[in-house]
Amino acid sequence: MIYRIFLTFLLALTFGFANAQVIAIKAGKVVDPSNGTVTYNQVILVENGRIKDIGADISIPQDAETIDLSRSTVMPGLIDAHTHICATISIFADRLGVDFLDLVLLNPDGYRAIQGAVHAKQMLEAGFTAIREAGNSGKYVDVDVKRAINEGLIPGPTIITAGRIIVPFGGQFRTKADKQFITNNEYFFADTRDEILKAIRENIFYGVDVIKIVVDSKKYKYSAEDMAFIVDEARKSGLKVMAHCQTVDGVYSAVMGGAASVEHGWTILDSIITLMKQKNIVLVSTDFPVKVLQAYGSKEENAKTAHNKMIERLKRVYDGGVTIAFGTDIMVDIENETRGATAISYIDSFVEAGIPAADILKIMTTNAAALLGINKSRGSISKGMYCDIIATDENPLENIQTLKNVTFVMKNGVVYKNGKR
Ligand SMILES: [Zn+2]
Repeated sequence: MIYRIFLTFLLALTFGFANAQVIAIKAGKVVDPSNGTVTYNQVILVENGRIKDIGADISIPQDAETIDLSRSTVMPGLIDAHTHICATISIFADRLGVDFLDLVLLNPDGYRAIQGAVHAKQMLEAGFTAIREAGNSGKYVDVDVKRAINEGLIPGPTIITAGRIIVPFGGQFRTKADKQFITNNEYFFADTRDEILKAIRENIFYGVDVIKIVVDSKKYKYSAEDMAFIVDEARKSGLKVMAHCQTVDGVYSAVMGGAASVEHGWTILDSIITLMKQKNIVLVSTDFPVKVLQAYGSKEENAKTAHNKMIERLKRVYDGGVTIAFGTDIMVDIENETRGATAISYIDSFVEAGIPAADILKIMTTNAAALLGINKSRGSISKGMYCDIIATDENPLENIQTLKNVTFVMKNGVVYKNGKR
C-alpha cells in the first residue's frame, strides 16, 4: 500500500500537477476517425492531461492557456501497432561478414535503449502518440524505454511492450550453434507446454503488456492447440497475444487458437479471411514500401514483387471485412528520414490497395487503439480521455497525404510539436 501511495505521488509529480493549468485548444475542424465525421470550430479544454470538455459553445476560463489551431484539422494521435524502436539492422553487416540480422542482436542493451529513446521521439514528432513494441528489444529494453517515457525522462509515445518474443527453438534468425547466446536476450525458445508457460509468466513478471509469439518462422511451428494454450495463459493475466505469421499454416494456428492479432499474414486464404472476420481477429498488415524492403536487403525487382503481393492480399483482407490495424515492422533507418517519417510513408500502401482515406485514418487510430487495449483512455477526442491529439493543415479525409506533415502533437496534454519542423 505504501508503495502504491508513493507511486501515485511520483506519477502526480511527473505528469499530473505539472499540467494543472487549463489549456483551451481552438480547433477549426475535429475529425472523429471512428465514424469519419467532422465537427467545426470546436474548443477542447484540457486539464491534468485529460480532455475536460469539448464542444462549439464551451466558454474558455480566463486563466486558460490558449492554443490556436483554428486553421487546422485536429484528430486523435496516430498509432503504430507493430514496430521495433530498439532495433536497427546495420548497413555495415556485409562489410563485417556477418548475417545482417544477427548484427541487430549484437548491439548491447545500453546502446539499444538509446536507439529506442531516439526513435520514440521521432515517432512522437511524426504524430504517433502510441506504439506497440513487437519485441527484438534486447532484455526488456522496451520496458525500460516505456518507463523512462512514463516518468517524463524522455519524450515518446505511450508504449505497449512485448518484451521477449516466444518462439519454437532457434527463433527467427539463423544463429550458429556456438553463437546461440546472441539470441538469448530477446527470445524465449519454448517448445513444451512447461517452457511456454514459464516464458509467458517471466515476460509478465518483467512488465510486458502483450505476449508476442512467432508462430511459424521455421519448419516446426506452433499448432492451433499450442496457440489456444498460449492465449488462455496470457488471458489469465489480462494480456492479449500478437502472433507473427508468415505461412498459411501459421495464420490458421493463430486464428484457430484465438490470437488477438495476426501480424504480417503474408499468405491468407479467403476461407481464413472469413474466419478472421467472424472471430474478430485483427490483421496488423505491415505492408512494407519498396524502399523499406530494399533497406532490409532486397534487390529492387524482388522488393517490387514482394510489395505487390502484400498489396494484393491487403486488398483481399480489406474487402473481406477483417479489421485492420496500422503497423510498420520497421527495423531499419533510411537515409535522411526519421523513423516517424518512414512509418507514415506506409500510408501509400493503403492508398495503393484502394482503401478510402476515412478507413486509413480509422486503421491508424480507432482500430489500433482497440487492439492495443488502450481505447478506454486514448484513441478518441472525448471527455475524460487523455489528450493525445495531432493537427494537420488539411483534412485527412480529403487528402490523406497531409498526415505526412503533422504540424502539432500533444500527448497527455503536453505539447511536443507546434509548427512545421
Ligand atoms: Zn516485427
